[in-house]
Amino acid sequence: MLLIISISCMNNQQKENNESNEDVITYSKDKSEFDASMKPSAADVPESKYHFKALPYNFDAFEPVIDTKTMKLHYDKHHKGYYKKFINAIKQTDDYGKDIVEILSQISNYSSAVRNNAGGYYNHWLFWHSLSPEIGQNPSDNLKNALEESFGSWDAFQESFNTAATSQFGSGWAWLIVDRDGKLGVINTPNQDNPLMDVVKRKGIPILALDVWEHAYYIRYQNKRTTYIKNYWKIIDWSKVDKRYHDAINKKVFKP
Ligand code: MN
Repeated sequence: MLLIISISCMNNQQKENNESNEDVITYSKDKSEFDASMKPSAADVPESKYHFKALPYNFDAFEPVIDTKTMKLHYDKHHKGYYKKFINAIKQTDDYGKDIVEILSQISNYSSAVRNNAGGYYNHWLFWHSLSPEIGQNPSDNLKNALEESFGSWDAFQESFNTAATSQFGSGWAWLIVDRDGKLGVINTPNQDNPLMDVVKRKGIPILALDVWEHAYYIRYQNKRTTYIKNYWKIIDWSKVDKRYHDAINKKVFKP
């Protein structure tokens, strides 16, 4: 929280003086490349029995934490790619149209094409809906208390989540989950696996997602995954996480 305040209060001269500090993001938005298509659209994806919706904000909504180019590539190329490949893969089975959460919970029965792309389709949807252009939100007292109870303190929760995100070797995800006993936990998963999948050791209902694939941060952060993770905290949509927490306690799973 201190970091957010220090950045927003800094003038240009101070920003220049801080260039060597890797916590400070250099803000250089190049709008020209994106003016014509700043608004995400789902009009170009094929219709299917599964939902694929436009993002609820513009591609530049998270500047400077997540740059416009990354957002556009991530949604238009990566996420849409997973969706299209998932549709193709699930159509090869008898389960086309089966509930996505049911498929994920029995993922060991499916091909790796279904596993990777069902995960990629679902995970990105949860990731997009973990982010808010309203910078610096806080969780409700109810969720904050639950987190403090589960992890010992807010700082311990943050540290646990950051460690999960940083220590995921190669591509993968960090998650905040509600387990079957209603307890909050933090896990990470490789590739496009997620906590709903039967192949995952510690399962649960995911309520917050962080994509740590290089495609999620490399343009702005290069190899500095830790800085990307640190900045991610500023754009978390805690109102949506709160709602998912309440739903997860009642065994309700967030779906696209
Ligand atoms: Mn991704």
